Amino acid sequence: MSEHSEALSQTPRERRVFVKTYGCQMNVYDSQRMSDALAADGYRATDEIGEADLVLINTCHIREKAAEKVYSELGRVRQLKAEREAAGHEMLVGIAGCVAQAEGEEIVRRAPVVDLVLGPQTYHRLPEMVARARSGTKVVETDHTLEDKFAHLPAPQRAPTRARGVTAFLTVQEGCDKFCTFCVVPYTRGSEISRTVAQIVAEAERLAEAGVREITLLGQNVNAWHGMGPDGREWGLGRLLYRLADIPGVARLRFTTSHPRDMDDDLIAAHRDLPALMPYLHLPVQSGSDRILKAMNRRHVAADYHRLVERIRDARSDIALSGDFIVGFPGETDADFEATMRLVEEVRYAAAFTFKYSPRPGTPAADMEFQVEPQVADERLQRLQALIARQQREFQESLVGQEMDVLIEKPGRRPGQKVGRSPWLQPVILDETLGEIGDIVSVRIGHTEANSLFAAPPGAT
Ligand code: SAM
Ligand code: SF4
Repeated sequence: MSEHSEALSQTPRERRVFVKTYGCQMNVYDSQRMSDALAADGYRATDEIGEADLVLINTCHIREKAAEKVYSELGRVRQLKAEREAAGHEMLVGIAGCVAQAEGEEIVRRAPVVDLVLGPQTYHRLPEMVARARSGTKVVETDHTLEDKFAHLPAPQRAPTRARGVTAFLTVQEGCDKFCTFCVVPYTRGSEISRTVAQIVAEAERLAEAGVREITLLGQNVNAWHGMGPDGREWGLGRLLYRLADIPGVARLRFTTSHPRDMDDDLIAAHRDLPALMPYLHLPVQSGSDRILKAMNRRHVAADYHRLVERIRDARSDIALSGDFIVGFPGETDADFEATMRLVEEVRYAAAFTFKYSPRPGTPAADMEFQVEPQVADERLQRLQALIARQQREFQESLVGQEMDVLIEKPGRRPGQKVGRSPWLQPVILDETLGEIGDIVSVRIGHTEANSLFAAPPGAT
């Protein structure tokens, strides 16, 4: 079918985009921004890959075999594309995200089904790239451009923002200059870029106007954010949070992921002063062994982390912590691992992500000697996970009988229920008569099940 007859039969021709997102919240945010950019070009989001004129796979490179998984997924997409083309329809295929950045041209060489490859710093050029791909050119864009993609990406649109619910992500910072020796982020996302205060406030106001009550600020290293303020000076994240807390409608603020080195006094004070800033902080330490922390280039020792946690808890006594841990880092001995277990025992986490070290090509740790035997790393991972699961249970149980504010987010799975979020991010199941979606209501926790809290029924004592 030609462009012309297409236009005659379905004017204006609405195209559909299917976006599949892997990885962290920053990728979720990026996928939403890409959908918004394409909406301006007439693309409507679909959940049905088979009806998509454009398939975008937004990839993550943080774990092992990420690229291989993308290639095997592309095998399945090739089949769908052939079927759609046989039926006279278009299906462009794009690979975005960190695998796109890392693999570049190699992707179109190995998987000719792919029409466009775009790195995370190029998303603002997506509509123009799609136009080129539609004319038959293979498009590969993986520059770490100097132009500000955020200045060019359209702001979140009201209707899709509403449809996404009462919580939203807002990326304030991208990239990382820390160069932890295990991590690909500084290579795939490039060096640190901070958005300006004006950009962030404008986006937060737009979200609030569309009904968003809770905003989570995102960055690979979010507390390293240092954006230009309206006063012509650089602001830090603490000051930004005070400003965002003033926006009418914004009831809750969070930020993730923080590096312990960048938790400054202003940010700790914000936790003390701002009721809107939720008492839950993701503060990865990775290991409890100073030797391993040094080999990881984390630039702090375990005692620094303990002191920091103490200062944060002094500022906000009900704060709960979550973390990231890597076990089996090259050279990790039993004693190093026991130091990690000790740190976890002492800090007490409400939750944590635990990873078995996986060598990422191009990072310094991948070439280090004394890689840990997989079986040893597995055993350590299991022990650490069991300890964290116990702490998570204990934390949840400590909330039974407590009154807390819950932001109601959506209908529940069972009739008569709604689901909200606790200040500590747990799902809270409550009676639907207690409030409407977007309301913040005070409930008493009756019991817990798995990872959820259950509000006591209305009228129960
Ligand atoms: N910027 C954050 C920080 O400094 O903690 C984390 C960013 S990274 C996307 C998320 C987590 O993945 C890291 O905290 C780390 O625990 C884990 N990770 C990163 N590279 C890894 C690797 N090569 N092997 C195993 N886990 C890894
Ligand atoms: Fe990666 Fe986080 Fe280290 Fe940056 S601070 S290199 S994102 S682990």
